[in-house]
Amino acid sequence: MELRIRNLSKTYANGVVALDKVTLNIPPGMFGLLGPNGAGKSTLMRILATLQECDAGSVFLDDIDVLDEKDEVRRMLGYLPQDFGVYPRVTAYELLDHFAQLKGIANRNRRREVVDGLLQQTNLFEVRHQKLGTFSGGMRQRFGVAQALIGDPQLIIVDEPTAGLDPQERVRFHNLLSDIGADKTVLLSTHIVSDVADLCANMAIINKGHVLLCGEPARLIEGI
Ligand code: ADP
Ligand code: ADP
Repeated sequence: MELRIRNLSKTYANGVVALDKVTLNIPPGMFGLLGPNGAGKSTLMRILATLQECDAGSVFLDDIDVLDEKDEVRRMLGYLPQDFGVYPRVTAYELLDHFAQLKGIANRNRRREVVDGLLQQTNLFEVRHQKLGTFSGGMRQRFGVAQALIGDPQLIIVDEPTAGLDPQERVRFHNLLSDIGADKTVLLSTHIVSDVADLCANMAIINKGHVLLCGEPARLIEGI
């Protein structure tokens, strides 16, 4: 699916202009949103994920009005926020099973299939009966992806997923995102240039709520 963002603006109550007429087309595949801290990435992603209101502008996911048809969008969306909490005392399997139930997968056997598939895809099957509190940062991030993928969403939004990961975990995480991006629309925010260079077919550079550049990483990163 394709996201089309037009003139999206957001000013916080304290007067900070987080987004100033942001216009972007996000086609299927991996799209990187690169920008420093405070650029407006999280604000944009929360608005796209229907978790925050904007002041002006429009967003369409194919022909769905994202700002208006929130329930419809939520059914098609997987969102991995920057600092998502995990429940330390439950196991990976238990929590995924719980979220699958919340997503409406009522049949136990079907749920087991879905949860086992996601655990395998994210390389967590071996540790599925470990409590989440014992997971490393990288394992937690992969668990977050598994959680975001429940219900087979067509649009995946991940906010700074590689911050704080060691190099080996980053490579693993990149491979996981590449797999997902092969047949879905994945929007990835990051302040790490190599994340977009390695992974994304298209990217935008955002700073102070403005889109500065948009295009293919190979072309844009040369100019940085
Ligand atoms: P990021 O790590 O993406 O740069 P921030 O550190 O800007 O995010 O924000 C972390 C959290 O604090 C977010 O939930 C954000 O909404 C909130 N926040 C950030 N800046 C302010 C602010 N000036 N006033 C109130 N809340 C803020
Ligand atoms: P990024 O994710 O790129 O770090 P954010 O969207 O978190 O950027 O923040 C953009 C700007 O908006 C920053 O200046 C931040 O401090 C401010 N901001 C974020 N959340 C809030 C909030 N809830 N209230 C006030 N200001 C905020």
